[in-house]
Amino acid sequence: MSKRDYYEVLGVSRQATDDELKKAYRRLAMKLHPDRNPGDASAEEKFKEANEAYEVLTDPNKRVLYDEHGHEGLQRGGAGGGFGEGGFGDIFGDVFSDIFGGGGGRRSGPRRGSDLRYMMELSLEQAVFGSAETIRIPTLDDCATCNGHGTADGKAPPKCSTCGGSGQVRVQQGFFVLQQTCPHCRGRGTQITDPCRSCRGAGKLRREKTLEVKIPAGVDTGDRIRLTGEGEAGERGAPPGDLYVQVNVKPHEFFERDGSDLYCTVPIDFVTAALGGELDVPTLGGKAQLKLPEETQTGKVFRLRGKGVKSVRGGAVGDLLCTVVVETPVRLNKRQRELLREFGASLQGDSGGGHNPEAAGWLDRAKKFFGAD
Ligand SMILES: [Zn+2]
Ligand SMILES: [Zn+2]
Repeated sequence: MSKRDYYEVLGVSRQATDDELKKAYRRLAMKLHPDRNPGDASAEEKFKEANEAYEVLTDPNKRVLYDEHGHEGLQRGGAGGGFGEGGFGDIFGDVFSDIFGGGGGRRSGPRRGSDLRYMMELSLEQAVFGSAETIRIPTLDDCATCNGHGTADGKAPPKCSTCGGSGQVRVQQGFFVLQQTCPHCRGRGTQITDPCRSCRGAGKLRREKTLEVKIPAGVDTGDRIRLTGEGEAGERGAPPGDLYVQVNVKPHEFFERDGSDLYCTVPIDFVTAALGGELDVPTLGGKAQLKLPEETQTGKVFRLRGKGVKSVRGGAVGDLLCTVVVETPVRLNKRQRELLREFGASLQGDSGGGHNPEAAGWLDRAKKFFGAD
């Protein structure tokens, strides 16, 4: 199958700049992308053709080979041959990064600084009510002495005379033209004759910076707070990365949180369970009174409305759910044991199991179960 000319495919002149190539490719890709043309084989074919053309023409090495020798030159190029779907995710990411905010910019130009992540441990109270925390993070920052240029005079360094600022040199090797990282400037594209003494020409200094982080009320484990531009400084004037503060809430003495509700377990003595009473229970906002009715059973859940949490994402304030657990008395003295035996006997003598309907009912069912075989 004879291939169409790559410039023709993209609809650009043979002198097209990278920018023009990018624009032309983007226009085609938007039109021909398989997601927009489901089941259309010819669109898919054209899309692949455009990808291939774009990949070749934006690679200086391949473009030279193609300009001089056409499609054949590329096939003989060996190492660079075979453009399948292989690299196309990358190309796509690169071209669309400025639309979709991806990390792009890998192929050319100074790199944006890296994002940093900081794990922050908070108490439940800090997470629920919000707080201001001071953190120290290691970071690479532009050297203040030279404004990040790495030069002693603090001005932008001149372009490298060997590569003219591209950071790459072309080397003719017989039939092929190879592209290599400039040996003089090692790819930076600039030459610093008189380096800054603070950073020794790197333009960056590693230091610890102190940041005040405002924790909004209602955050929970797994939430991230983004501090725009507080990540590492970018390369040569490129924008810095972001800092992500990742929240991890420490276990609490009383409460467990689930969304906007809080849960706690409240042990009560069995006399209060039987006769009812009032009990102070802790909430995040101080004490609250829990009214226990007579005959409160273990496992009963009492809901204190509005004593939960208001999520950082909004919505109503949740509830506090207290699960009651009846505690069997321990370390009884002789007198107490006697009283309990007396008490137990009084239960027996009265209304035959009516005081412990759960236990009596269960016993009846158990008897039937054993009697069945
Ligand atoms: Zn150079
Ligand atoms: Zn410096």
